[in-house]
Amino acid sequence: MANFDLLLLAGDGIGSEIMAQAVKIIDWLNRQGDHTFTLEEDLVGGASYDAHKSPATDAMMAKAMKADAILFGSVGGSKWDNVDYALRPEAGLLRLRKDLELFANLRPALCYPALAVGSSLKTELVEGLDIMIVRELTGGVYFGEPKEITGRGNEKRAVDTQVYTTSEIDRIARIAFDLARKRGNKVHSVEKNNVMATGVLWKEVVGQIHKEDFSDVELHHMLADNCSMQLVRQPKQFDVIVTDNLFGDMLSDTAAMLTGSLGMLPSASLGAEDEGGKRRAMYEPVHGSAPDIAGQGKANPLAMIGSLTMAMRYSFDMGKEADLVDDAIAAVLAQNLRTADIMMDGMEMVSTDGMGDAVISEIEKAAG
Ligand code: NAD
Repeated sequence: MANFDLLLLAGDGIGSEIMAQAVKIIDWLNRQGDHTFTLEEDLVGGASYDAHKSPATDAMMAKAMKADAILFGSVGGSKWDNVDYALRPEAGLLRLRKDLELFANLRPALCYPALAVGSSLKTELVEGLDIMIVRELTGGVYFGEPKEITGRGNEKRAVDTQVYTTSEIDRIARIAFDLARKRGNKVHSVEKNNVMATGVLWKEVVGQIHKEDFSDVELHHMLADNCSMQLVRQPKQFDVIVTDNLFGDMLSDTAAMLTGSLGMLPSASLGAEDEGGKRRAMYEPVHGSAPDIAGQGKANPLAMIGSLTMAMRYSFDMGKEADLVDDAIAAVLAQNLRTADIMMDGMEMVSTDGMGDAVISEIEKAAG
C-alpha cells in the first residue's frame, strides 16, 4: 500500500467541472484502500490572477515542487485578454512546465472503437489506434538563441535557432524506449537529418542509445515530412514516435485529430528522475478552458479522467487500476453514452456529471 500526494489545479473555464469527475475516481480509489491519495488544491491561471494578481504564485509553486504529481485542468479565457502578457493565465502553465523542468511531453492518440466512425479517416484505418507521441518540450527552435527580428523598413530579418545537445536527445530517447517496452516495443525516431544538423545529431544519438541499451526495441528512423504523411495514410503502423519540440507540436495535433474530439485527449509532461527515482510530472487534458461551454454541464470529462489514468501509469505504478478505468471509459462509450462534443445520431446525451457517474458505475461493476 502506498500513499501519494496529488496537487489538483483545476484552473479556469470548464476546469473545475471536469476535475470534479476525476476526483470521483480518486475518491473511489481511496475507498478501496490499496493505493491512496492525499489531495491538495490550489488556484492557477486566471482564477489565481483574480485572487492574487499572479497566474502562478510562489506558494502554489512550492506545493507543485513537493507533490508526487500534478493534475491540471485548463487555463485561460477572454476575461483576461487585457491583462499584461507576463501575467496572462497561460503564463501560469508555462511557469509550471519551466520551473519543474518538464522536458518530455507524452501525447497518446487513442481511438476507442465506439468513436472510430467520428474520425475524418476511414473507420478501418483508425479503429483501435493507439499511438504515443513523445515530444521534446524544453529545447529546440522555440527556445534557441538568437531569436530576433533585426533590420528596419521593408527589409527586416527574422531568426529562430534550432539547438539540441546530446544529453537533451539522450534523455527524451530513453523515455521513448522505456515506454515502448511497456507497449508495442516499437519506436519511430523522427527528424530531418537530410537538411538539418540537429537532425543528424538526433539520429546519431538515438541510434547509439538503441545499440547500447535498447536493442530489444524495434527502431525506425523516419523523416518528419514522411511521418506526417504516414500518420494519415497508415496510422496503425506506429507505436511510439519520439521527436523534437517543433515536429512534435505539429505531429501530435495531426495524430490527435485522427481520434475525434479534443475532449478525449489526455497528456503527460515528465521531468528528470531524482536520486530516489521519482520524476516530476504534470497530467492535463490537451484542450483549453472551453469558455463557450463553461458552467453548462456540457464539457466532456474523459480527457481529464484519461489524464488521471496516465498519472496512475507513469507516476504511481498503478497499471492495473489504470486499465480498470480506461476499460470503464471504453465500456461507457460502447453503451452509446455521449457528451455533446461526441454526440452522434441514435446515441444518448449525458452531462459532464452524468459521464463521470457512468464511468464510476462501470468501474464498480468491473471491480465487483
Ligand atoms: P479550447 O480547447 O478551450 O476549445 C476549443 C473548442 O473545443 C471549443 O468549442 C470548446 O467548447 C471545445 N472543447 C474543448 N474542450 C472540450 C471538452 N472537454 N468537452 C467538450 N468540448 C470541448 O480552445 P480555445 O477555445 O482556442 O481556447 C480557450 C481558452 O483556453 C484560451 O484562453 C486558450 O488560451 C486556452 N487554452 C488553454 C490550454 C491549457 O490550459 N492547456 C490549452 C489550449 C487553450
